[in-house]
Amino acid sequence: MMEKKDMNIINKTMDSLRRNNMAAYYVETKEEVLPLVESLMKEGETVSHGGSETIKECGIVDMLNSGKYNYLDRSKAASPEEVEKIYRDTYSADTFFSSANAVTEGGLLFNVDGNSNRVSAICYGPKQVIFVCGYNKIVKDLDEAVVRLKTTASPKNTKRLNCNTYCSREGECLAMGRDATYMCDGCKSPDRICCNYVISAWQRHKERMKVIIVGEQLGY
Ligand code: SF4
Repeated sequence: MMEKKDMNIINKTMDSLRRNNMAAYYVETKEEVLPLVESLMKEGETVSHGGSETIKECGIVDMLNSGKYNYLDRSKAASPEEVEKIYRDTYSADTFFSSANAVTEGGLLFNVDGNSNRVSAICYGPKQVIFVCGYNKIVKDLDEAVVRLKTTASPKNTKRLNCNTYCSREGECLAMGRDATYMCDGCKSPDRICCNYVISAWQRHKERMKVIIVGEQLGY
């Protein structure tokens, strides 16, 4: 896992993403993310996003609330049925924002979800998916991605979301005591957030996925 920013590894990762038919961008600071994403979107288009601290940290949620876009905002939904409708409408959005749980140096995006509205929209539906990732999300390979998920991303997210899981109490997945790199091993809590594991490799739809790497640590 990249503890300190290393431009050689960032450049290698971006080259790998491009070889996988994704667009890749680098910006030094989170303040540079907004102008870049605005240049990738059109005013009035329909936009949504998955749950992500990075998206908030970069000001994307505030930008979507500016009135310039048709923002499918589940936080304004008045009932579980409305939330469900927003999830379904998201499949026809122009742009979907997400971070990634990990990005490998070999150009794979690793995303894991509980409800799975986020990973399903990543795979299919929105015309483009823009990932915003701090350099801390870059890992060597999928084994490191799984360890990152089980020791960092899931424990911090379950704590933030107040989920009753082993990792929210103990700070790491219970699978860490077993074979840590076995991807799907985990708890059986109804609050489990690791249910569907999506690895995005070479893309048939060129540059539908766009990855912005930021030279700062962001999100979990
Ligand atoms: S499987 Fe359960 S304990 Fe393991 S990281 Fe996911 S939510 Fe946490």
